Amino acid sequence: MTSNHFASRFEPNPNAKTDGQREAILDNPGFGNHFTDHMFLAEWTPGTGWADARVVPYGPLMLDPATAVLHYAQEIFEGLKAYVHEDGSIWSFRPEANAERMQRSAHRLALPELPTDWFLGSIRDLVTADRAWAPSGGEKSLYLRPFMYASEVFLGVRPSQHVTYAVIASPAGAYFPGGVEAVSIWLSSEYSRAGTGGTGAAKCGGNYAASLLPQQEAAQHGCAQVAFLDSTEHKWVEELGGMNLFFVHSDGSIVTPELSGSILEGVTRDSILQIARDLGYDVIERRVSIDEWRDGTADGSITEVFACGTAAVVTPISSLKWDGGEAVSGDGEAGKITTDIRSALVDIQYGRAADRHGWLHQI
Ligand code: PMP
Repeated sequence: MTSNHFASRFEPNPNAKTDGQREAILDNPGFGNHFTDHMFLAEWTPGTGWADARVVPYGPLMLDPATAVLHYAQEIFEGLKAYVHEDGSIWSFRPEANAERMQRSAHRLALPELPTDWFLGSIRDLVTADRAWAPSGGEKSLYLRPFMYASEVFLGVRPSQHVTYAVIASPAGAYFPGGVEAVSIWLSSEYSRAGTGGTGAAKCGGNYAASLLPQQEAAQHGCAQVAFLDSTEHKWVEELGGMNLFFVHSDGSIVTPELSGSILEGVTRDSILQIARDLGYDVIERRVSIDEWRDGTADGSITEVFACGTAAVVTPISSLKWDGGEAVSGDGEAGKITTDIRSALVDIQYGRAADRHGWLHQI
C-alpha cells in the first residue's frame, strides 16, 4: 500500500444552499434524502498511490459507460455518523473502526486499502467544510457515507487500475421520532445473503443488491427487515439485511451470533458487546440456531431480541415471522435491557455519558 501524506485542497461551492434552505432541510431531514454542499474525492493508481484529495462542490459524477464498477460491482462503502454535542462541538463515533473495516472490505474486493489517516482526514475535512449541516437536537446526526469504486474505463475482468474514493454527507433525523418502536422480522427460507468464502464480511454493494429481493418479500409480509441463515445448513442465524442481532436470555446473559466470515462485523455490535459488559452482563458470542430463536421466545428462555446498526442504533424486535408461523418476543414492546443498552450507547454518542473507551473523535 502506498501511503502518501494526507492533505486536501478545498474548492468552495458557489451554489451552496442559503441558510434558509439549509435550516428548512435540517428541521425535518429524514434519512438519505438531502446532501451537504460539498463532497470529498481522491484517486488511486498503481504508480502514484492515493492522490488528489479534495473537497469540492457536491454534484454528479461523470462516468464513462465502460467504467468497470458499472459492470463488475467492484465497490465498497462505509456508514458512520457525526453527532453535535450540547456545546456545539462535533464528534464522530469510532471512525478508526470504520477505516479498518473499509481496509478489510478493500482487501476482499481487490481494491487498494485507504490508509487510516486518509479516512480520518477525509471525514474531518468534509465535516469541517459543511459543519453548518450537522443537525443538533433530539437524535439527529450527520450521516457520513465513504465509498470506493473501480473507476477505470476498461471491460476486462481484473482489479481496476484506477480507483476513486469519495465521501458524501447527509443530515439524518431521529430514526424513531415518536419513540423507539419494536419491529417484526421476516425469516428468509429461500435466500441467503452470503456464503462461505463469499463477501458477507465485506461492506460491498453487491451484498445489498442480493438482499433486496428477500427484503421486498419481508415488506410484503409486513416486516421491517429480513433475517438470514447460513447458506450451508440453513440452520444458524447470521444477521438482518442491514443490522446485527442480539438475544437476551432469562438468566441475564446476552448472546450474539459469533462472526462466521459471512456476517458483517458491525461497529455497533462491537460497541454493545463492550457496553453490556460494562453494565455487568454476561456477554456471549456463539452460534445461535433458528430453533433456539423460535423455541426460546416461545418458552420464555429468550426474553428480548434486538437488532443494531449505525442508522437506528438499537431496534427492538417484537416478532419473527416465517411461512406459516410467528414467534413473538416478550410482550411486543421494547424490553428493559434493550432500552438500557440503547440509552447507554446514545448517551456516549451525544456526549451525555463518559467516553470510557475513547470512542469519540472530535472533528
Ligand atoms: N450488518 C449489515 C449487513 C449492515 O449493513 C450493517 C450496517 N452497516 C450492520 C450489520 C451494522 O453495522 P454497523 O453497526 O457498523 O452500522
